Amino acid sequence: MTQFAHPVLDGVPTGLLVAGEWVTTGRTLDVRDPATGGVLASVADATVGEAIDAVAAAHTAFPGWAGTAPRLRAEILRCAYEIMAAEQQQCARLIALENGKAWADAMAEAAYAAEFFRWFSEEASRIVGDFRLAPNADKTIIVDHRPMGVAYMTTPWNFPAAMATRKLAPALAAGCTAVLKPAKETPLTALWVAEVLQRAGVPRGVVNVVTTSDPGGQSAAVLADERVSTLSFTGSTYVGKLLLEKTGQRALPASMELGGNAPLLVLEGADLDTAVEGAMVAKMRNGGSACTAANRFYIHESLAEPFATEFERALAGLRVGPGIDPTNDLGALVSTAERDKILDLLSAAEDEGGRVATTSRVPEEGAFMAPCLVRGVEHGQTLTRQEIFGPVAPIVTFETTDQAVAMADDSQYGLISYVFAPDSGTGMRVAQRMESGMVAVNRGTASDPAAPFGGMKESGLGREGGFAGIHEYLETQYIAVDL
Ligand code: NAD
Repeated sequence: MTQFAHPVLDGVPTGLLVAGEWVTTGRTLDVRDPATGGVLASVADATVGEAIDAVAAAHTAFPGWAGTAPRLRAEILRCAYEIMAAEQQQCARLIALENGKAWADAMAEAAYAAEFFRWFSEEASRIVGDFRLAPNADKTIIVDHRPMGVAYMTTPWNFPAAMATRKLAPALAAGCTAVLKPAKETPLTALWVAEVLQRAGVPRGVVNVVTTSDPGGQSAAVLADERVSTLSFTGSTYVGKLLLEKTGQRALPASMELGGNAPLLVLEGADLDTAVEGAMVAKMRNGGSACTAANRFYIHESLAEPFATEFERALAGLRVGPGIDPTNDLGALVSTAERDKILDLLSAAEDEGGRVATTSRVPEEGAFMAPCLVRGVEHGQTLTRQEIFGPVAPIVTFETTDQAVAMADDSQYGLISYVFAPDSGTGMRVAQRMESGMVAVNRGTASDPAAPFGGMKESGLGREGGFAGIHEYLETQYIAVDL
């Protein structure tokens, strides 16, 4: 094994995984540590031909894997869960190093990622069909669910472990085989997850990984290949739409987990401490680089200033520095380019009259940024329209709940909303009015492998996790028969 810049990386695969073999290639791409800018490792950079080799391997492996007993698939996934749970720290180190996020976030992601293997190990043997007499009693209706085939999966850099397991676990549980393309910024964690699956006993060719610096070229070729049966994509709405044009040409099923612009509402009479605590989690989990991150804060006018003061104080208390150091609360953004995009949004907000408050000290080198609160923002301005993807919290005030719901729903996105209400009943009633695939009431998180994750409007198509998650990888077949 190659020795890299950090001992955590010793033994982590850097090749492509094709047909059960780690393959080195003529070209490599560098993976950087966002906290220092230094190169952590070089991983294989797949050509289009190598990606097609992976498709061929997944296609060859499919009949055997689809034909295994669901119980065996369940046991392999359970074993992968046990390994990930036992090696949570190793997973977290890889995440913290290549993504930059804070240690606590990296540990939480590692645990969350492992849970998808556990949940879908339990689901593998619970795929149920339907059997009934037709209303006219002229036949029996049998509805069966069968694995689709080869799934092509594309994941983003913000949750390098969890976005991979959220796709691989249901696909493998259903009996599909996989070709995974992780983001080029964070391939090491995904390669490690694939190696965990190998250790758990996944047969050759069932899981393949093809890192690349040319995602456009690779996806065009892979999605045009008739051996590929479905696409599962997580990333921006912009790229998701590009890929939907390609899947549309083949009428290929596609599961799309896309961008978000989550509103967080604090209604009149809500408990201030609960709201501030929830806002910290909703905003700062993953340093704000989450599709579920609260992006715009609509606060009732009676609570706006006390909320802003307390929230600002909590943000100012965060210690900013390398995620691999557990004493830091907020790590680096994934790259200086991502950080600079957020700084541009802040400048635009200031030009529009926003008042930026920031106090934390940040390291001079690396992709760090101080968390900040922005007062005086109006609904419709830049920070309420754009997905910020960083530690910036714009505050907008409102007078009535109807106004707040209207502003919250006034977005092309509809992934998640947060509602802080005086009681759960009020929170539920407001939640049911939100154009949002998920709503968290009086809490700062909602994600759970046992719940359907996904969005309305341009935040996506389909659901990952929960009972629905496995159906993204299953075809429905109806058989009419006289019994
Ligand atoms: P991105 O869309 O730039 O990239 C996502 C993936 O698509 C990466 O693997 C990338 O290599 C690949 N890609 C980029 N250009 C491509 C192209 N032309 N053709 C094919 N593939 C291409 O997104 P990102 O910057 O990595 O991640 C941030 C975005 O992901 C945010 O918008 C965030 O909201 C979204 N996200 C959504 C969810 C969700 O579950 N809804 C979860 C995490 C992230």
